[in-house]
Amino acid sequence: MQVTLDDYAWAAGVATDLVNTTAEVWRGDDHLPDLAALVEFTDQLGDPSANDEVPGALSALARRASTADLHAVHALRKTVRDLIDHPDRAHLIAGATTLTSPAQGATLIPDPAHGNRTRWAVPLRDGATVADALSLICGIGILGVVHTLGEQRFRPCTAPTCRGAFIDTTRPGSRRYCMPGLCGNRTNVANHRARHTTTRDRLTNSE
Ligand SMILES: [Zn+2]
Repeated sequence: MQVTLDDYAWAAGVATDLVNTTAEVWRGDDHLPDLAALVEFTDQLGDPSANDEVPGALSALARRASTADLHAVHALRKTVRDLIDHPDRAHLIAGATTLTSPAQGATLIPDPAHGNRTRWAVPLRDGATVADALSLICGIGILGVVHTLGEQRFRPCTAPTCRGAFIDTTRPGSRRYCMPGLCGNRTNVANHRARHTTTRDRLTNSE
């Protein structure tokens, strides 16, 4: 399995998804409690733009994972969250560089979209575990975002009650929520309720 450097936005998305599986974010309900959940997590990571091989390889590693590997993924989740929570450039670069240690060196691979071109890629070393693979992906994602978009893209979720965090890879850099579908809706509902309450209070007071 190899991670292409051009796929850093996808890789940063994997890092975001991973940190938002914790019990802290889900009010005590860990979303990666066991090996079955880990397999499910890797199955839904989706295809990076031009490298269809990675998610399949990741799922295969997850299916071979042991309990020790699951614990290593839990530890990785903490490390990545700590990096997002302390987005100092030097700290991000040093931490993410350590995360890429399961790589075995940079190389060039054919670009499927352009027959005669190549892409930068870092292969995973032989015998690597699913935790190693996720570590490499998170490291590449963080380094790519620091390099291309800047360290202000590492932020906490702005939904009032949410304890999630994310790496913003949107073009304008205006992402606000760790899980836009969920936290955005929660915020809308809260705002709607607040408006509703204010209107009702006003009506009651004017009576
Ligand atoms: Zn959130």
